[in-house]
Amino acid sequence: MSKKIFAANWKLNKTPEESREFVIQFKNQIFQNTNFFENREVIIFPQAYSLEALSSLCAGTQIGFGPQNVYCESSGAFTGENSAEVSKLLKSEFTLVGHSERREIFKETDDLINKKLQLLQKLELTPVFCIGETLSQREAGQTMKVCLDQMSKGLAGLNKARRLIVAYEPVWAIGTGKVATLDQVKEVHQALYQYLNENSYSDFQLLYGGSVKPENANELLSVAHVDGFLIGGASLKVDSFLKICLS
Ligand code: PEP
Repeated sequence: MSKKIFAANWKLNKTPEESREFVIQFKNQIFQNTNFFENREVIIFPQAYSLEALSSLCAGTQIGFGPQNVYCESSGAFTGENSAEVSKLLKSEFTLVGHSERREIFKETDDLINKKLQLLQKLELTPVFCIGETLSQREAGQTMKVCLDQMSKGLAGLNKARRLIVAYEPVWAIGTGKVATLDQVKEVHQALYQYLNENSYSDFQLLYGGSVKPENANELLSVAHVDGFLIGGASLKVDSFLKICLS
């Protein structure tokens, strides 16, 4: 059985000092649980300024980390962007790509997201690639079409043998407290699993994201093809993040 993945998206929260404190506390809490990483994988996505702090604190642990966004070019005249190559120099192995806040607020297109995914593959970094429908798309019965469309456009031309983590995050469930029902999660995860399987992707995991909390984590994890979570609000406190990891 593959490990469950618990990925924390801290968004634009936590100073480097607060990030450091979180990781120190988290490591202290799991210290006595020698089996902790036997069936779990933990990834933290802090804001870019905190990557260096995580780089030294996570060294030699099994806690993965990475940026919440990178540009599709590693260097050049791209003022204000983050370099995937530099995140790799900091020993980061993961990158969040295509989060709905990037798509909505920063107008990221499927094409740009695809270019970022291509670069990450070139650099041998593992993406946590986010997809998901808005409320109006769900209400119009377009959920499956939107999700599969984002998948096929985002993944176009990628090497299917490389590791891929996809996070299904219904936009209406992110930061709203409205979690998707188990049937809704099951339906989309089944379709995503089938898509990736039929298209010969050989190393993939599917996360659910959207108002995951300690109270709902257990039942969500019981849904077929849910291999873990991408967690926003509830990942900001060690206590609630750890409870979710232990569910
Ligand atoms: C997210 O930001 O990816 C997310 C799922 O947020 P939240 O858990 O707060 O809904």
